[in-house]
Amino acid sequence: MEILKPLQKNIYKTQTFQSKNLSKELSIELNCCGTKEYTKVSFPVKYGIFSRIETCDYIFEFNLNHEICHAKSKKRTWLHPSEWLKRTMGDDWVYYSTGGYSGVFEALGEYYLPNLTYPTNSLLGGKPFEESGIDDIVKNWHQIISQLPDTGMPDEFSRWIQSIRQQSPERLQKKAQQLFDISGSRVTVMPPDARHVDYNIIPLNISDGCLYKCRFCKVKNEKNFSIRSKQDIDNQIIELKQWLDKDVINFNALFLGEHDALNAPCDLIITTIQDAFDAFEFQSSYMKENFLFMFGSVDSFLNTEKTFFDSLNCLPFQTFINIGLESYDQATLDLLGKPLTQNQVGQAFEKVQTINDTFPNIEITCNFVMDESLPDSHYKGLMTLIRASVNRTKPKGCIYLSPLKFGCPSRQVLYDFYKLKSQSRFPTFLYMIQRL
Ligand code: SF4
Repeated sequence: MEILKPLQKNIYKTQTFQSKNLSKELSIELNCCGTKEYTKVSFPVKYGIFSRIETCDYIFEFNLNHEICHAKSKKRTWLHPSEWLKRTMGDDWVYYSTGGYSGVFEALGEYYLPNLTYPTNSLLGGKPFEESGIDDIVKNWHQIISQLPDTGMPDEFSRWIQSIRQQSPERLQKKAQQLFDISGSRVTVMPPDARHVDYNIIPLNISDGCLYKCRFCKVKNEKNFSIRSKQDIDNQIIELKQWLDKDVINFNALFLGEHDALNAPCDLIITTIQDAFDAFEFQSSYMKENFLFMFGSVDSFLNTEKTFFDSLNCLPFQTFINIGLESYDQATLDLLGKPLTQNQVGQAFEKVQTINDTFPNIEITCNFVMDESLPDSHYKGLMTLIRASVNRTKPKGCIYLSPLKFGCPSRQVLYDFYKLKSQSRFPTFLYMIQRL
């Protein structure tokens, strides 16, 4: 592999500038040191090293490549002072709302609700992108920063303003496309556990496609399951490091794609994790700890030997593997077009408990579907697993309940979710499908 240059974490020095012109209030903070550890709190927290510009009307934040990453308005039209917009690596705007703080944490395990611009299966939230204050920023942020003065300030600040202006919406969109081109596809669904790092994951594909092509699934692709060559993975790592550029220092989480990375050979998985750890220099990340996410299927999980989990547990990562079980009821599995037996799902659930009880650095999480149209036997089966199968509350092994329908928030389904959650002996949350 090509030798990659080491990161220089300590070159970032915080510098501030405050305009003395009261009619044009402007303050700039270069290289702000945000929080180093992902945390779950009910007030806005910014992670990593970034720069911020504040005017009398707006606050904009930029990553170390001068690309806009957060924005909010100080105007009256802004919905809530603790809410903000985030621009993702895939160039989507996401509006983080408190949801009035009522029920968001119970439902998602996080204090903020990501509101998306594309259809998803979320049961919560309104339509914030239809609000004028939010729409104004999404459409006009570049024009706003283009009109800011870049003279009458020390050189480093005026150079910085010129750099952020160069990262226009068109350039950022092209850059997102370059990210999708590195692996050959966009991440159409992130594992639910990626919430633990606010979805700031480096996507590296070691495989494509999935085994089952379930009829109900809205995120699958046409590709038959296949494994990437070592050379292909090495190339992706090099290109991803170039793509992340200076901002790589803000990352500490890896997502091994695509829909069933666990079905790749164990050696390839372990070698890839080690190579990625070295290449992205996770040991020098600004962010504390390292996280690894991937999806697995019932077959790949049942076929995985204990020795693999032994190796994974010894790596310097907190690993989350998310398995789509969908239902512990044969009639529902058949209805969903999921080519599995109830017995296989039961065996997988049992093995999930053994792995979670044995390995402190690994958490296997499970998905089940929810919908008003599903038979009662689906919910009976679910209760057998998430309540009756254990006799005490478990601290890990999250159960994610995934509404089947997109763009169709339903009070009844939300009510059913809270009922299931209250009876579950596992941490139980909604799975809101998000792309990268
Ligand atoms: S649920 Fe998983 S296995 Fe089934 S089609 Fe979707 S991605 Fe493939």
